[in-house]
Amino acid sequence: MINKKSRDEIKRMRHAGHIVALVHKKMKEVIEPGISTKELDDIAMQVIKGERAIPTFLGYHGFPGCICASINEQVVHGIPHENVTVKEGDIISVDVGATYAGMVGDSAWTYPVGKVSDEVQRLLKTTEEALFAGISQMKAGNVLDDISGAIEAVAVREKMGIVRQYGGHGVGHEMHEDPFLFNYRVGDNTLIKSGYAIAIEPMLNLGCDEVVVADDEWTVSTKDGRPSAHFEHTVLATDDEPLIMTQLME
Ligand code: MG
Ligand code: MG
Repeated sequence: MINKKSRDEIKRMRHAGHIVALVHKKMKEVIEPGISTKELDDIAMQVIKGERAIPTFLGYHGFPGCICASINEQVVHGIPHENVTVKEGDIISVDVGATYAGMVGDSAWTYPVGKVSDEVQRLLKTTEEALFAGISQMKAGNVLDDISGAIEAVAVREKMGIVRQYGGHGVGHEMHEDPFLFNYRVGDNTLIKSGYAIAIEPMLNLGCDEVVVADDEWTVSTKDGRPSAHFEHTVLATDDEPLIMTQLME
């Protein structure tokens, strides 16, 4: 069942989303060659705790961090570690959730570390474009396939691989609620209604679609070892334009 968010729930989710956006603002500032993913996790924790919120990911199905930090060919769910550092030319995807007053915000962004290659830059630009193409379809009266199709069209145009096993999701009281949202058309004609909140999150690859899960049972990487990017916002359907909830409030 897909829950419509009440006015009060939306207010609290918007606050959670603001905190998530604060974490990303900080990540953008501190990511540089030599920083470890554990340091990034600690910084994210400080921001979330400082805002009197709860790091949603910590302990979720036993996940040991409050961010997922996935470098280069890693797609999602990378575990922060003090021995894992980024270097010039890498990309790092940071996914983070915050729970505030019982409501969740969820957002991911892929950051370049210093200067990256032209093709990697194109991967980042395309995946971000796919996210915003998806967001533009998050309107009451559209169907889920409209969002999926918009994401897919951008990926296909740029000949990027589309991760098939993971996708977007409803979000609210829980991080993962109904519905599941594919990043390619599947013929899902579920109607989008005002008050639905969905985390829209394309994961695109420079190479093939296929991914593998590491022995740690978390880290997902591309099968061909080529880079992958992940951009995500929590978005509310309204009677008017889509509202991005995981952005800074004025
Ligand atoms: Mg996320
Ligand atoms: Mg998500």
